[in-house]
Amino acid sequence: MSGPVDARDMPAREELATAEVRVVDVSESRLAEVGSVEVRRALPNRRRRTVGAWCFCDHFGPTRQTHEHGIDIGPHPHMGLQTVTWLLAGEVVHRDSLGSEQIIRPGQLNLMTAGHGVAHSEEGTGRYHGTVHGLQLWVAQPSATRQGPAAFEHHGELEKVDLENCEATILVGELAGSISGARRDTDHIGADLSLRQGHTTIPLVRVFEYALVVTEGGVTTEGKDVRPGHLAHLGTGRDELTMRSDGGSRVLLLGGTPFPERVLMWWNFVARTRDEIDAAREDWADDSDRFGHVASPLPRIEVDSPWWALKSP
Ligand code: MN
Repeated sequence: MSGPVDARDMPAREELATAEVRVVDVSESRLAEVGSVEVRRALPNRRRRTVGAWCFCDHFGPTRQTHEHGIDIGPHPHMGLQTVTWLLAGEVVHRDSLGSEQIIRPGQLNLMTAGHGVAHSEEGTGRYHGTVHGLQLWVAQPSATRQGPAAFEHHGELEKVDLENCEATILVGELAGSISGARRDTDHIGADLSLRQGHTTIPLVRVFEYALVVTEGGVTTEGKDVRPGHLAHLGTGRDELTMRSDGGSRVLLLGGTPFPERVLMWWNFVARTRDEIDAAREDWADDSDRFGHVASPLPRIEVDSPWWALKSP
């Protein structure tokens, strides 16, 4: 495995957000392997790099966590992004080079800001055996903070808001007047929508772009069927969205101001230029102080060469 983001995930052409487009555009996630777990990678994909500042979305499981198989991702570096971990089932322990060690369970949020550099691992707790199901997301940091210090936050409880046929848990940002306490460096929102049978209308911000990732069940909106394994991009220019769920469904709502900068993503790094990524790759390969040390029993994940280094001269 060459790491989370490789050439298969990146759009053939780099495009910044365009004018208001109010269409439900459903794309298929790519199946990828992270550690020994199969994931559905909704973002980035060949057609889309960001939704607001959200730049990565892996939906993993439901799968079984056993002694031999499960979420066991050894120490690896990040820069220029925030990792957002959200579980629907199971428990995972986060360790990082800031010294954090934090178990996360469903309904809780782990938010790590990489800035100039941090390293972390995501591991099974060793005592939990059962279903693991969740999302690993990244938020691209803006230039104002992306070279800054690393940080880690755990939120044991999050704001919830009741909507018609729906309970929304707000991971980050604001929805229907409720605001998450989680740090955000750009104007974006992430919310888990727990839908009962029937119609639900959620309020949106007109200048945000949005997307839906269904994690359980399925919803229909504007004639489009959205299921696990899809990214439903909603565009901008909406004040609300109505969807219908046939039974119980879980949907992640992602949104935000279209990201104003061109991001370059490779492996576990979010940058602007190849030079920045080359420098980070060398720093990790050299085990420099930049990314620090993670007190993990798992072996560190080694980096290989980006596609631009593999092309013949
Ligand atoms: Mn990571």
